[in-house]
Amino acid sequence: MTTLIPVFADQLSLSLSSLRDANSQSSIILMMEVASEANFVGHHRRKIAFLFSAMRHFAETLRQAGFAVRYVKLDDPENTGSFDGEISRALDELQIDKIVVCEPGEWRVEQMVRQWQERFSLPVTVTQDDRFICSREEFGNWASGRKQLRMEWFYRDMRRKTSLLMRDEKPVGGQWNFDQENRKPAKPDLFMPSVPSFSPDAITLEVVELVRSRFPERFGSLDGFNMAVTREQALKAARSFMQERLPLFGDYQDAMLEGEDVLWHSLLSPALNAGLLDPLELCEMAVAEHAAGRAPLNSVEGYVRQIIGWREYVRGIYWLQMPDYAQANGLDAHRRLPDFYWSGETKMRCVATVIDQTRRIAHAHHIQRLMVTGNFALLAGIDPHEVHEWYLAVYADAFEWVEMPNTIGMSQYADGGLMASKPYAASGKYINRMSDHCRQCDFDPDKRTGPDACPFTMLYWDFLARNREALSGNQRMAMMMRNLDRIDTGELQQIREQSARLLDEIAPPNTASRRMPSL
Ligand code: FAD
Ligand code: SF4
Repeated sequence: MTTLIPVFADQLSLSLSSLRDANSQSSIILMMEVASEANFVGHHRRKIAFLFSAMRHFAETLRQAGFAVRYVKLDDPENTGSFDGEISRALDELQIDKIVVCEPGEWRVEQMVRQWQERFSLPVTVTQDDRFICSREEFGNWASGRKQLRMEWFYRDMRRKTSLLMRDEKPVGGQWNFDQENRKPAKPDLFMPSVPSFSPDAITLEVVELVRSRFPERFGSLDGFNMAVTREQALKAARSFMQERLPLFGDYQDAMLEGEDVLWHSLLSPALNAGLLDPLELCEMAVAEHAAGRAPLNSVEGYVRQIIGWREYVRGIYWLQMPDYAQANGLDAHRRLPDFYWSGETKMRCVATVIDQTRRIAHAHHIQRLMVTGNFALLAGIDPHEVHEWYLAVYADAFEWVEMPNTIGMSQYADGGLMASKPYAASGKYINRMSDHCRQCDFDPDKRTGPDACPFTMLYWDFLARNREALSGNQRMAMMMRNLDRIDTGELQQIREQSARLLDEIAPPNTASRRMPSL
């Protein structure tokens, strides 16, 4: 009996459930670099290089552990270019009796896998991806019958389940969440710890060249590629974060600074989502830093919440809501994504900075994604599906299960408030408070009309006026709506006219866009 075990790019863990019963005599592990996935959206070149390099290194690890690995490179002449094609070719060329595969991270790939049994006429076993703390079934049970699916309640259950930061069944420090301590703006004169950098080896250099030649026109730089591509490197990066940046992670979680790409964030999401790191091991490392007195509770609790709270929660929402979630457009937004999301050519200093960073390193931290690029798309009324495709393409950590709820739900409020209790809409004043971008910008964050009006500030009021009816039932928006009512009619008209002129220029309505429902 020979078993074929396909392993996808986000399943690079020796502890993967489908590998548990594998052995060198009767299992063949199949890993595939396929064009259909590399081209599914215009993925950033650094993201493709990261994933292919991490896959090739993982294949080596498997071989060293004694497994037989069939590895299909992107430029193999026989490569059919799709998962289905490569499964079919493997079955034709090898004596395979059954397939065992760990459940894929994305709905679309799972649909494909679920058809293999019938399509290829052999038994297919799909094992649960137990690298996640909450299974899809468990999340479904948690969500069932609830009026609101608030992350905070889910997170508390995950704290109880994992016993992380719990003492005598109560949260350590007497409260569950220390977020109110985590909103400090950073100052440029604070000491910034460096982030580990990994020199590319021969495998990575080959992949970088392959990506450079196969995707010459693609968005994103490959220069100075230095990402962790093995588990050992990822663990080194994790230890460095725990020792050097975790202590101030909480305080400056929402801050943005010119010239500082990472601040005190971990930058571990690409390695974590690809499977090189395990979510629980990261949380345990962080809790150990607190127990040893080296990291304060607000930082450690904040970090643990992002992982066992937000990360698990968005996965649950994704599987609960797919496939309809991809089409959600609760605010009926139909404008095209402005070209500057790709070119970075805009006078808005904050946006230009985030796009430039995204192009260089395929990474931006949460507040950059949520309150700069996401906030602008929300205020401008960009079609959420276009926004989703952009985020899926440009970040090295972007897999649909985590990217889509963050974009469609949290950032664009397109799911009608399923995830976020109110839209994350903010004027330039927020960006001015949390960053130093505005000091170097042509626009004035305090102005809402006139040639130097900050587009965020102007569009913020336009957004509220445009969506007044859609948001009228939301109590959390009541104060903002009252502030809107305080603007005199003449000025509001000016805001609306200037906004319309700007939006028609940078983001004309997408006539091809579908009319999509909220959920
Ligand atoms: P840190 O700030 O160090 O946070 C620690 C860890 O917590 C992260 O590594 C990540 O695994 C987890 N985490 C934090 N916030 C979230 C969240 N909201 N959802 C899920 N996990 C979270 N994250 C992705 O991993 N992939 C994506 O494709 C992605 N797309 C996003 C799109 C938008 C519009 C927004 C607003 C957020 C998105 N996020 C995504 C969430 C978050 O921005 C990233 O996880 C974070 O910036 C990764 O950087 P870091 O590792 O330095 O995170
Ligand atoms: Fe961004 Fe407005 Fe500040 Fe310029 S003034 S950096 S556009 S928030």
